[in-house]
Amino acid sequence: MSELTKKQAKERIKILRKKIRYHEHQYYVQDNPEITDAEFDELMQQLLKLEADFPELISEDSPSQRVGGEPLDKFKKVEHSQQMLSLDNTFNEQELKDFAERIYKITEQNEVEFVVEHKIDGLSAILTYENGQFRQGATRGNGVVGEDVTANLRTINSLPLKLQEDINLEVRGEVFISKSNFAEINQKRLAEETDLFANPRNAAAGSVRQLDPSIAAQRNLSILIYDWISENESKISYHSEALERLKELGFKVNWYQKADSIDEVYKLCEKWQESRDDLDYEIDGLVIKVNKLDLRKILGSTAKSPRWAVAYKFPAQQRTTVVKDIEISVGRTGALTPTAVLEAVEIAGSTVSRATLHNEDEVKRKDVRIGDHVLIQKAGDVIPEVVKVIKEKRTGAEKIFSMPNYCPVCGGDVKRPAGEAVTRCTNITCPAQRKEGILHFVSRNAMNIEGVGPALVDQLLENNLIEDYADLYFLKVDHLKQLERMGEKSADNVIEALENSKDQPFFRVLFALGIRHVGLGGARLLTDNYSSLDEIAGANREELESIDEIGPATAESIVNFFTEPQNKDLITRLKQAGVKLEKDSSEEVEEAKFLADKRFVFTGSLQEYTRSEIKDIVEQAGGRATSTVSSKTDYLVVGENPGSKLAKAQELEVKILTEAEFKEMFDKNKEVLK
Ligand code: AMP
Ligand code: ZN
Repeated sequence: MSELTKKQAKERIKILRKKIRYHEHQYYVQDNPEITDAEFDELMQQLLKLEADFPELISEDSPSQRVGGEPLDKFKKVEHSQQMLSLDNTFNEQELKDFAERIYKITEQNEVEFVVEHKIDGLSAILTYENGQFRQGATRGNGVVGEDVTANLRTINSLPLKLQEDINLEVRGEVFISKSNFAEINQKRLAEETDLFANPRNAAAGSVRQLDPSIAAQRNLSILIYDWISENESKISYHSEALERLKELGFKVNWYQKADSIDEVYKLCEKWQESRDDLDYEIDGLVIKVNKLDLRKILGSTAKSPRWAVAYKFPAQQRTTVVKDIEISVGRTGALTPTAVLEAVEIAGSTVSRATLHNEDEVKRKDVRIGDHVLIQKAGDVIPEVVKVIKEKRTGAEKIFSMPNYCPVCGGDVKRPAGEAVTRCTNITCPAQRKEGILHFVSRNAMNIEGVGPALVDQLLENNLIEDYADLYFLKVDHLKQLERMGEKSADNVIEALENSKDQPFFRVLFALGIRHVGLGGARLLTDNYSSLDEIAGANREELESIDEIGPATAESIVNFFTEPQNKDLITRLKQAGVKLEKDSSEEVEEAKFLADKRFVFTGSLQEYTRSEIKDIVEQAGGRATSTVSSKTDYLVVGENPGSKLAKAQELEVKILTEAEFKEMFDKNKEVLK
């Protein structure tokens, strides 16, 4: 029991809440944490303890009260104080200009200032505060009446339960699920074999409309505020001022930028259309608003939408097309992945002709048949996927797909272990697995053998010049020269690249072997604990499992790998070839990881690397790749058309590198380390 008197507890609770609110704001709103998660938890624990001792002191605006309350039977209806209108859409420069012209005419101005904002693809929410306390959150509903989803919105960490000032106000914002969080949620659902969400917007909408707030809490929703709709303070005359004021009050405000002319607005539209993938949330366009509030009054609205605002919509990232076939690809681990072969369509500037169907259950769940019309979508660098089947378009001629009961590549048996979603080819000599295994072996993060790509590997396999990756090291220039499209020079280069790869650091070699569950991180862990391949091969399960972060599945897979006669043979041949299978002194230095714990963020499109490549490079050097810029960020690497991260980095004085500078820094350090 606490030693404090009630009066003392009250004071202490007040202090703790203030501290916690401050750190919540720094973490969730400013992306700029000042204390560690553990320190934060410690404060929260203290508060929870005191509130448990003195339950009468619990108040609704306490940071401890984000998730509370019982599941509801249904939502209460809420009538909005002002109708929530829609926005008119524009799709091109001319339509934007027409929008501006109409404004000039009505307001009798030659030019007006606009504010351009992200049009976040989530769902809108209206938040009401009384005396600085969060009172109610509602959905848009039909624009006149929405639903009371207060309990769910309280779970959003960046939503202040108490404002910096005790005022009454009403704001609107967009509730959404970040892309990275969305990927995690679906990953989990895939593992749990529950239906996947089609996109972040559906996931957000589903979460906000949960009757049980504890479910909403698990979804990790976010909110960005874009409008102050209650009667503004009289001294505010611009929308941008209102947004700044909302920031002061403690809200996380949507990205915005002022533009002096419609031409400037259009430039921003072009820029964001290019760099929308850099954001960790989905935007389907921009919203353009007249900045001066007086002018908005003059402009008013039509029955459907305000005249002072318009949406600029990006070309759709979703399109409909036809499934011509469903093919099975066989991966390195033998996994059979169904892939829809599509009638090619263009989505946001790139041609899409295949979409992943993940696994057997996904095909069944979505009921995708050969010949179906389907809606497909593409988001960022993610592989395009089938969202849903348009069943109305079925003719009856569609063919139901079923997973083959033999491997389509080698004819070997396939097995789907109980409790797993993946069907695998069990034939360890399966050429598909071999090919993928070889491609993995030569990849940049593994042995980094330049010049050996999919086409050459195909040729080598077809001509029986190799059967597995160890055979690569026994190739001679003469072998290569007999291949089509292979000149003497390229043959020499391949041999040289192979030769050079023998000195790859041991952890990369270990990764290259393709042991199931052993990624680059796992390989590092192993080389931290063992100094040679022989030692690892000699370790038993218990010993491996005793290493932090190595779980039973990984340990088992390592042991299995080294007991397989075929793998023993592979390793013998790698040894014969002279591949380094142990740590040496140079590696100790690389292990010092020159980017140790340095945090990197990337923005804009990079020329030399894909996002995942550059992330891997940073991570291999001990650095960390993160998605948001904060005061803890060490470097921002900037490509073409950088997003808002650049401004943020400048503001926080984060070191900014061009791609060339990054490369130079990296190469230099690598030299020093050699
Ligand atoms: P629409 O549903 O196409 O008529 O567009 C209006 C909706 O856009 C609003 O209800 C909001 O949910 C959403 N929206 C997203 N971002 C913004 C923003 N920055 N300003 C206004 N509305 C936005
Ligand atoms: Zn096979």
